[in-house]
Amino acid sequence: MLVKGVVFRLESDLPSEAKFLLEDFRLAVNNAVRAGLQARVTSRNALCRIAYKDFRELHPRMLAKHLVSSFEVAGGVLKNHRRRVRKFVACRIPYIKRLMMKAENQAYELNRELGIIDLPIRAGCHVELKLVVSHYHRKYLDDMTLSLGSLTVLPDRVIVAFRKDAPKPFLPESALSLDTNERSLDGVFVEGDGAKVIKAGFPEIAIIQQRHHDRRSRLQKKKTHDRRISRNLCRREGARERHRVEYRLHQVANSVLKFAEERRSAIVLEDLKGFKSKRSKELNRRLSLWPRRKLHQIIEYKAQWKGIPVVKVDPRNSSRTCPTCGRTQDSRMGAEFKCECGWHLDRHINASINLLQTAISKGMAGGLRFNPGAFQHDVMMILYEPAMAARSEPNGTSGIVGVT
Ligand SMILES: [Zn+2]
Repeated sequence: MLVKGVVFRLESDLPSEAKFLLEDFRLAVNNAVRAGLQARVTSRNALCRIAYKDFRELHPRMLAKHLVSSFEVAGGVLKNHRRRVRKFVACRIPYIKRLMMKAENQAYELNRELGIIDLPIRAGCHVELKLVVSHYHRKYLDDMTLSLGSLTVLPDRVIVAFRKDAPKPFLPESALSLDTNERSLDGVFVEGDGAKVIKAGFPEIAIIQQRHHDRRSRLQKKKTHDRRISRNLCRREGARERHRVEYRLHQVANSVLKFAEERRSAIVLEDLKGFKSKRSKELNRRLSLWPRRKLHQIIEYKAQWKGIPVVKVDPRNSSRTCPTCGRTQDSRMGAEFKCECGWHLDRHINASINLLQTAISKGMAGGLRFNPGAFQHDVMMILYEPAMAARSEPNGTSGIVGVT
């Protein structure tokens, strides 16, 4: 089962009854966390068993459904806490500060046509939340194959979980193999006898990261006298950076997936799991793996949602191997890969060809065949460029433009 959380803004402020419910819910979660820590349990059912009776008296007006869901939230918090304790990460006893509540799908009703949520507060008292529905939201509301999951209510917005069974990935008719680099995805697209060199560039992401890093270190110097303020400012700076980077990663992923969906391609990516760069600390930060891992995550979950097959390949030696004769070069070279047999090609494109060959040799990309020689003098196709994501366009124009 795949779940996708969709955020809706509210047309007006949360009614005061709902605000009280949020406060009550937060109290219940924090109480349940304490009860769970004491009794050393983390599952919803166990919490229910030990705490339900007391909670009924503590929160007499809360609906049983909401109370049970507070155990669920507390269970999640406790599991995270336990994981941290196991890893010996210093942490305090968890406490929810933000106002929030979660309602299971039987505990609320959503009118998908009008975009109105009916949330029961207590017996005989319901509130209606009018959602701001955009074109993007309509896609989810109108798609009746999607069922409703839980509802998360926050003071200024709600998150509705839409669920669907994972569609069976289609049988690929072509393949899109991508090598993930700091500033771009570079790769090849293979279909029948044809082959194309593909690029989706995101050079601004490294720039954004550098800029925010500089800003953070400046803040830390300026606020050395007050660690609390410095920490808060840095955290805010970090969140801003994350939003800016993730926004761009989504654009890149969308352009890749649109391309793959239209041509019914399998997407071949390198497996970044356990991948560590052995560089100096300074360089490590700059070449942070995080955006690349995140990009893979986004591509994978979006592909799953659309039923596009994704193949992960062990990237070992992929940038040092010659795809025609199989020789492995001793070390990485400059921008171009050169082999004794006369083969030479852009290093990144070369790596993606090796990824594709591995995928094909393991039978992971259907019955595709291709000839590496086809790539040497080819036209490059740009899947994505930062200029395509103009700021004024909320969803970007991540179309595909052929460039010769
Ligand atoms: Zn060679």
